[in-house]
Amino acid sequence: MSHQALAYLPPKDGLYPSPLDRFLPPFPKAVISTWLKEHTKQGDLIIDPLGSNPMLALEVASANRKVMFARNNPVLWLILEVLASSPTEKEISAAVSKLLLSRQGGVTLEEQLKAIYISRCFDCGESIQPDGYIWNEGAVTPILKVYQCPACGAQGEKPVNDEDIQSLRNLGNIGLQRTRAFQRAASDDEYECQTIDHALDCYLPRSIFTLMLLVNRLDRLDVKKEEKLLLQAVLLSIFDDGNSLWYWPLRDHRPLQLNVPSRYFERNLFLSLESGHEKWQSPFGKIDVCYYPQMPNTEGGICLYQRRLADQENFLADLMPQACTTVFPRPNQAFWTLSALWSGWLWGRNGSIPMRSALARRRYDWYWFAQAISSTMIPVARKIGDESTVFGLFPEATANFYLGLSCGMNTAGFHLDGYAYRPSRDMIQNHWQTGSKSTDIELPDIRKLIKDLLIERGEPASFNEFLMSVISEFFIQGAIAKEISQIDEGLLKQIQENITLQLRDEHFTLAYATNQPGGSKWWLVDAREAKSPLAERVELFIKNFLETHPNVNLHDVERVTCQEFRGRLTPSPELIHSVIVSYSLFLEPSRVEIKLRGQEEESQRISDLREACILLKKTGKTLGFDVKGPELGVIEWRNEKRSIISRFFLKSSCDIMDQLINTPEEEAILNIFVLPGSRSRLIAYRMREDPRFTSALSNNWHFLKFRHLRRLAAMDNLTFDLWKDLLDGDPLLWEAPEQTPLL
Ligand SMILES: [Zn+2]
Repeated sequence: MSHQALAYLPPKDGLYPSPLDRFLPPFPKAVISTWLKEHTKQGDLIIDPLGSNPMLALEVASANRKVMFARNNPVLWLILEVLASSPTEKEISAAVSKLLLSRQGGVTLEEQLKAIYISRCFDCGESIQPDGYIWNEGAVTPILKVYQCPACGAQGEKPVNDEDIQSLRNLGNIGLQRTRAFQRAASDDEYECQTIDHALDCYLPRSIFTLMLLVNRLDRLDVKKEEKLLLQAVLLSIFDDGNSLWYWPLRDHRPLQLNVPSRYFERNLFLSLESGHEKWQSPFGKIDVCYYPQMPNTEGGICLYQRRLADQENFLADLMPQACTTVFPRPNQAFWTLSALWSGWLWGRNGSIPMRSALARRRYDWYWFAQAISSTMIPVARKIGDESTVFGLFPEATANFYLGLSCGMNTAGFHLDGYAYRPSRDMIQNHWQTGSKSTDIELPDIRKLIKDLLIERGEPASFNEFLMSVISEFFIQGAIAKEISQIDEGLLKQIQENITLQLRDEHFTLAYATNQPGGSKWWLVDAREAKSPLAERVELFIKNFLETHPNVNLHDVERVTCQEFRGRLTPSPELIHSVIVSYSLFLEPSRVEIKLRGQEEESQRISDLREACILLKKTGKTLGFDVKGPELGVIEWRNEKRSIISRFFLKSSCDIMDQLINTPEEEAILNIFVLPGSRSRLIAYRMREDPRFTSALSNNWHFLKFRHLRRLAAMDNLTFDLWKDLLDGDPLLWEAPEQTPLL
């Protein structure tokens, strides 16, 4: 394989949860630390010049590396500092209690907050603190409230009553609070002020009223520095709970723009404050944090530095980071604007200065992204020296921003050395190398790149997969300018149009419509050179691996499979899981130990196949047919005119594509794959993902499970008509009972 075939590092156990994680680029567990263990040693200095997800610094430090983490956004800085101090629930709750018990005019904050949200149970009339209220966008009163009544047990969505409306009116004119919320982040620039106003429109009056009450109270509270930090952290979570960017019914949603959903949820911020400790638990324990120019004393410590310092000639003096690891964030107008607003709320106008530039812009395109990445990475390229590597993750990858980040890295002095792309997770992992690489002025042949991808995969691909692969190959081959000024803003469009042109050529590719999110998929008209489908190669590889490795877990299997199938061939977790489920038993979902099922053992499968063979011969004869075979695993039933009536392909695995496309199709012949029933999930997966496979199967092909064959063969008075009627009676693709979820 060529050098660019990077082995994708699969996460161990999903993503880290963290405060504000719906805004941060998703950060998979144990990917960066696994990479560091392979490429660096304990005590090495690692730099993250983008500092987009604090969990990265914590994971690197807990892997006993020193990490320089750029701080630009004060909100991320706060998250990092608090999580590194690893506060206990008790410490946070104690600080929150102090805030709740603080008094003004003889009333505690707790009493004030409860009065703001209090309501009555629709069923029993007892007073309650509802979880929140449901609103339609643009309305002035909520339509429903959501609660669980401690008195009568009523729960769910219930109508609001006059009292609920009245309690909103009791807040009076909140103009003063809105002005305050505005002024704490305001600038002198008119456009920036409009952006702040727009962000404040994502807050209901009651939420602004409550948030300013909290901000005001924290300002006046006399507590120790550590407690103040914890309270700022909890308030930060509440600033997010308090906005209207929460769909109702609640669902996973990662806001990129400040758009209020048409139906949304207003949370009870008193309850948010009470449960504020829940979001601030660190999985890493205490980690030392210091500020540049001080450097960590311990092997695993974090040094925060201001990003602009990296531009200075003497930055880091003679220290040279051994590697750079980072998560490229997708531009997020919602988060960056809110960060400016929240920084102002927590630290006043000066606190929001670092994020001021976010207020000056509401649209981010790939070219802007290229410039931003380039200017951030130029000093890093100088600092980390020749032949050093950047290992970058780009979650939620889209082609436009992938092109932007690649142009940015390329013009900062890095060349792409390897990539692995997992389309089903929208995740790209990249290796960038410093040091110059000769530029190949010839633009790569896009038609050839498309063809190569399809030949290697042996399966159709979507437009987006072609695009990502073409962009990567352009940079691998050094075909893109090294100066940002020489990069054409029309580059993305050119590449897209060129791919489209190739795919429209009916002598080159054929399109399959799919109902998958990625839309149509394309396959080669002339597929003679194509390898067997990736799904089949992955299946055989994992089956072999499980046979030779009796005690492995899910992560082990993912890891070796991604090492075997690299770069653009990186298999999806769904494929890997479908194979595992087809061959093995899971006992413990959390500590999944994978063991082959008893019936998967080679000797058992051979005897199953032998039994199927005997049954097919016997049944064929009973029905009056002449039985041929098995020859190369195929049995034929022929009638008295020597015509083939039915063909049976005896299989223990799903590598059936070859037979599917090479068996002559005749309407009168029933073609049947005889398979173990446990392959159903894998076949279902392939029918969903590979339209070429599905289309081939639709030509009078059937599946027959071993167990159904046994049942049919045991029937008295079986006729051929009855056989045909009952053949699909135990379909392979019958919705299998949900297996224990793997992730
Ligand atoms: Zn009740």
